[in-house]
Amino acid sequence: MSRRSTAFLKTALAAVHYSGAGNLLAPYTRGRGVIFMLHHVDPSAPQEFEPNRILKVTPSFLESVVREVRDAGFDIVPLDQVRERLEQGEEGRPFACFTLDDGYRDNREFAYPIFRRYCAPFTIYVPTDFADGRGDLWWLTLEKVLRAAPAITLAMHGETRHFGLATAADKDAAHHAIYWWLRSLPEDQARAVVAELASAHCIDPRSANGDILMTWNELRELADDPLVTIGAHTRGHYALAKLDEGTVRAEMAESIARIERELQRPCRHFSYPYGCENSAGEREFRIAEELGIETAVTTQKGLLYSDHAHDLTRLPRLSLNGDFQDLRYVKALLTGLPFAVMNTLKRYTGAGVSA
Ligand SMILES: [Zn+2]
Repeated sequence: MSRRSTAFLKTALAAVHYSGAGNLLAPYTRGRGVIFMLHHVDPSAPQEFEPNRILKVTPSFLESVVREVRDAGFDIVPLDQVRERLEQGEEGRPFACFTLDDGYRDNREFAYPIFRRYCAPFTIYVPTDFADGRGDLWWLTLEKVLRAAPAITLAMHGETRHFGLATAADKDAAHHAIYWWLRSLPEDQARAVVAELASAHCIDPRSANGDILMTWNELRELADDPLVTIGAHTRGHYALAKLDEGTVRAEMAESIARIERELQRPCRHFSYPYGCENSAGEREFRIAEELGIETAVTTQKGLLYSDHAHDLTRLPRLSLNGDFQDLRYVKALLTGLPFAVMNTLKRYTGAGVSA
């Protein structure tokens, strides 16, 4: 999401909060439930140039959200209960699920003690290559290259582009251009570009990102706690929509089978890497159904309504975003009003607000 649209959304959410419109309309717009999406939970202060900070919230913010959700009358439930809750229709108390993507070690260190303290169930979605120590966290490598390099030159769209990187603003602008260009490429090609950039600037991605992911032993230990669900997130964390159907099926099925083997328990839940509409679409939702996956989540924004009982392999989530660490925003989003407005806009303009 660009800084301008982030600022716009913040203003809109604050307006919903201060106007009280959300509370007034909540009975009509509030969903049956919500699935929160997190990545890193880490107390360290963001650096001046840290585009991936949107993926990071502090433990104290997470704790305040858990408390707020309970105070607002939501039951915090495991994903295993989502189907049943949605099938109950509009009756009963609203529910919330907490999910964390990728299997970062900070989840165990900083998020787990909070969920434990509040007896709140949660799910971690693991790409099996990551737990094997073979994860390519190219988006973090790109950030490290841009932080370290004084300038870079890249052949993009068939022309040579030179990026001066003297200031944090230069680095942000270069990141925006390069990141979204990479996201448009076949992913192996994008990863090769980042690997080449890293090696040109003497950055070894393995040692730079090597110790931030949980191992199978750590995951086994966590999975022994009944509060914890481990879901699948493919093998190699590729945008599935860019792959051929056979590879997509293998990425999904083999990651599930591997988790079941490693943890000696069923794996029924799945998260599509990147999760936006260009990364997971009708074909992926159908394959998830064919594989018998009970719930599968995207990164499309939204609350859960009883109709989602028929769409369990394409569930939207609500991101706890590092740039939105303010309880007012979470409260405003939980009313459902921002989504009602977004859906109306989509209906009339054919476009919504996307991150
Ligand atoms: Zn992911």
